[in-house]
Amino acid sequence: MTKVLVPTICPYCGAGCGFFIAVEKERAVGIEYMLDHPVSEGALCSKGNAALEIVGHQERLTSPLKRRGDGWAKISWEEAIGLAAKGLGDAKKRRGPASIAFLASSKCTNEENYLIEKLARLLGSPHVDNCARLCHAPSVVGLNRTLGAAGMTNPIPDVASSRCIFIIGSNLAENHPVISRWVHRAKDAGALVIVADPRETHTSWMADIFLQLAPGTDVALLNGMAHVIIREGLLDGEYIARNTKGFEVLAESVRDFTPEKAAEITGVTADEIVRAARAYASSPASSILYSMGITQHTTGTDNVQAVSNLALICGHLGRSGTGVMPLRGQNNVQGACDMGALAEFYPGYRKASDPETIKYFSSAWEADGLPTGPGLTATEMIEAATSGDVGAMYIVGEDPANSDPSSRRVRKALDALDFLVVQDVFMTATAQAADLVLPGAVWAEKEGSFTNTERRVQWSSKALDPPGSALSDREIICRVALSFGLDFDYPDAASVLAEINRTVPQYAGITRDRLETGGLIWPCPSHDHPGTPILHSSGFKLAEGRAAIVPVPYRPAVEVANEDYPFVLTTGRAAVHHNAGSMTRRSPSLVSREPDLYVEINPTDAAKLKVVDGDPVTVTTLRGETEAHARLSVGVKEGVVFMPFHFPGTNVLTQETTDPEARIPEFKVSACRISRRD
Ligand code: SF4
Repeated sequence: MTKVLVPTICPYCGAGCGFFIAVEKERAVGIEYMLDHPVSEGALCSKGNAALEIVGHQERLTSPLKRRGDGWAKISWEEAIGLAAKGLGDAKKRRGPASIAFLASSKCTNEENYLIEKLARLLGSPHVDNCARLCHAPSVVGLNRTLGAAGMTNPIPDVASSRCIFIIGSNLAENHPVISRWVHRAKDAGALVIVADPRETHTSWMADIFLQLAPGTDVALLNGMAHVIIREGLLDGEYIARNTKGFEVLAESVRDFTPEKAAEITGVTADEIVRAARAYASSPASSILYSMGITQHTTGTDNVQAVSNLALICGHLGRSGTGVMPLRGQNNVQGACDMGALAEFYPGYRKASDPETIKYFSSAWEADGLPTGPGLTATEMIEAATSGDVGAMYIVGEDPANSDPSSRRVRKALDALDFLVVQDVFMTATAQAADLVLPGAVWAEKEGSFTNTERRVQWSSKALDPPGSALSDREIICRVALSFGLDFDYPDAASVLAEINRTVPQYAGITRDRLETGGLIWPCPSHDHPGTPILHSSGFKLAEGRAAIVPVPYRPAVEVANEDYPFVLTTGRAAVHHNAGSMTRRSPSLVSREPDLYVEINPTDAAKLKVVDGDPVTVTTLRGETEAHARLSVGVKEGVVFMPFHFPGTNVLTQETTDPEARIPEFKVSACRISRRD
């Protein structure tokens, strides 16, 4: 029997690495590297290499399940779809369409996300969102406002052309390892690397200038750098005059933000701030890479806008080696947002609050009564479930019971729903709270397009059949929609993409036939357009074609260390796990390397707590307490502790306070105390 190589995209991070699944006798027998892939060039990190471990996993869901007492009963698809229609339909009849909320999945394809948001809106509910709310909602809000487009401005390989790379709030060496190869390539060619992070990490080891700032003080650092750049005349006056608005207001707002003042707030020395500012502004081509270290804050939108300000006043946009680069977490979080699986936007970032949007989609979808938004965000849905304003939820491929902050509160909210249907590949903590569980397919068992962090749309082919009676998410969503009498006749992913070509201008020229290895980078407005790897090279899609420089006042974190909770807890990723861990914690080669929840503590703090490396400890915040092993590390400063968020305990501790605009919760700063368990 011959071995067939099926091209696919890694199901984990937003780098979107490509590889082949080797299939023999309808079984996956291994991975083969895709040497000509434009981002990964044949490389994969430990997660990508372990991706097949979840495909045939023994804990995969293989049949629809309905709750029976404390357990589950296997049921047919016919019964399952009937129950889904009844549960959602009853909620709609009883309390109106806005009492149903939908969570789409950034693990699913573009086509599936398009269908789930279309289903939500055709049923009359404005409430559809995805896990971007927990990672890069501030990028959507902040970049749309300042630059007019919510995506990475330059492609990943372009980083190699940077002469100065400023990485803020991203441990990309561990979390996007294949992207860090491009940083190394730039460094080998002489680029200077600046890293700003509260922790010393594998990424900070790459740095020529390391700014170890206090958690939650990014705006102070960025304003201090802007002050230095303006004071020393390092800005690009011609670029500012030609391409931007609002510079004078920014200059006034940072007039008093001296490096000394920024140093006092951030804990970084004034000299280091000046050095970083000079290096970033003076290089001929500087790029900024950032991730959830700056977005997962109550000041997440402010942080993104302050990043844009720096790039705009130095003219580091629109050219090779420059740019503002949000590194997305999940493999299709960019695509889920592009497809309108967001509370504020219909597909293509058309504002849900704009009557023109409603008019456009009423015509495109031949539908009456489409809801005006914005709808509830993912975090607001949980509040609405608690208050009773939302009575039913349809959750696809997300695990808010583990991924949302203050997770005990989330579990109570899910229990309060009249009806919860969860569509996933494993029995997650969220699925355990459901009335009905629908077994979906993993990425390798279906086809469709995924959009990586650099806006590159790539096709992933089907390599295998799903286990048991599991179905692709497209098929399940279509069956649910058909049960409501909706015209969801989409025989394959390509037919959905054909509709996306018509309704999402950025994807107008991105057809199935054109998505061979390497894909296409949006915007791609027509069938003969080559795609747009670099944004903003000839102005901005904002009023007068100019970017908006927005002054950003510094606001301290909501919680600060105090007598009762003397440490600042910050959270983030570990190299071998991903998001809430529903896949990586089931992947034997990954879980063997990082099996348990740990808390990194500075050795000086540990000595005061009488804790040694490996000791069991209890970490407590105002929300609750959780158990973890102490991991002593000089990588965290005294007074700061770090926990990875891939294990169920971490988000018991985090706070639900959100950014006022992007509504992302504060995952990075919580006051906590630690005690040794005997
Ligand atoms: Fe997968 Fe990201 Fe690793 Fe690439 S860098 S193999 S996309 S997890």
